[in-house]
Amino acid sequence: MSAGSKSIFLLLLLLPSEWSNAVATGGEGVTAQAHYDHTRIYYMELGNEQHVELFQRLEKSDSYFFMGSVRVPGQKLTVMVIGHKVADFDDLLHRYNVTHHILNYNFQAEIDANYREVLPTSTPVTQFDWQHYFQLDTIYDWLEHVARQSPEIVTVLDMGSSTEGVPIKGVRISYPQEASSAPRTSVFIESGIHAREWIAPATATYFINELLHSSDPTVQALARSQNWLIFPCINPDGYKYTFNGDRMWRKSRAPHGVCRGVDLNRNYPMRWNTTGTSGDPCSTFYSGPSAGSEVETQRVMRFVEKLVRTENLRTYIALHSYSQLLMFPYSSTPERVHNYDDLTAIGKKAVAKIKSLTGRIYKSGSIYETIYPSSGGSKDWAHGELKLNITFTFELRGPPDSEVLFILPAREIEPTAREAFGAVQTIVEEAAKRGYYN
Ligand SMILES: [Zn+2]
Repeated sequence: MSAGSKSIFLLLLLLPSEWSNAVATGGEGVTAQAHYDHTRIYYMELGNEQHVELFQRLEKSDSYFFMGSVRVPGQKLTVMVIGHKVADFDDLLHRYNVTHHILNYNFQAEIDANYREVLPTSTPVTQFDWQHYFQLDTIYDWLEHVARQSPEIVTVLDMGSSTEGVPIKGVRISYPQEASSAPRTSVFIESGIHAREWIAPATATYFINELLHSSDPTVQALARSQNWLIFPCINPDGYKYTFNGDRMWRKSRAPHGVCRGVDLNRNYPMRWNTTGTSGDPCSTFYSGPSAGSEVETQRVMRFVEKLVRTENLRTYIALHSYSQLLMFPYSSTPERVHNYDDLTAIGKKAVAKIKSLTGRIYKSGSIYETIYPSSGGSKDWAHGELKLNITFTFELRGPPDSEVLFILPAREIEPTAREAFGAVQTIVEEAAKRGYYN
């Protein structure tokens, strides 16, 4: 073995993570990939106003990523600290007596393991499952496959292209109906607006599969009671980038000066850019240059507005992770929606259903009161502007103090999706009982 070939051989032995990444992404143009070696995850509690001021200053740095914004004493907060800052940060916590513990010492290990749970794009579509994660191309192939299998029920729809020219595809599921029966109402399910929340598209495809193949008569009745418009990935550019650039990417990929991407869930026109957002294009929470500025936002808005007219749309569901929450508008104001009491009651029943199915504890309530204030989200727009009274958003697994944040192990896809589907069933059944679909 020559020195040169020996070093290549050693490289393959020493860098299993890079090697598995190349396999996971099918080798598609991997030029540079973000790494989180020795990046730590801290969970801390802000003890007083001084702590709040301290961490509000750090929020502006791109060496620290706060899961939610720093707001009030007593708040518990997860922070990702990039490797070169762990000594400084640890010192700071001890100097100011901040109660904390370390959830994770080397985040890259989670990412490496997660990429190994992705089946390659060459995988036959018949092997699509909920024990692995899949890239966008595989998800889209599967949607086409599902439509070919049940052409009388399923239609593949395309909202139009993203910034980078990728179609935003979903399905319409509509069981044949007697001509004489009353026109159906519809449910829209939005998923994957945040690129790194891989469990969201995986859950959306599970929903599609259940609506088509469940043997449970109550699910079959549910499937036939509505038309279902399900879009697993409404931020396709961002999702693709989590495979070939940065697993922790959240935004779209539109260029804005030296940085890229808009947090599409801060870009919708209701009370845009008023709270819990950033005007800095380099921020993870950048709200965009103006309300509804982004092509992906416009695609969803035009599409959903049309559904209200043509499909009798009444229900809007969004899928996110993580924190195990089931929430309803508003997110941008403490003001309560007109049907707050109904949504509170429906949310409580839905989280009870989750607990009965898997034992998982989800918390329910308005977005503003449950997670944190934010503006420009799609749900405030759906409820406030489009008057879609049944509007809910999920933060799927894991728990609020998750050690792996958005990197949910693939073995949790099936139970996560199953409990979320149970909750959707409860939401639709309860809304029907309360007369929302009459
Ligand atoms: Zn999200």
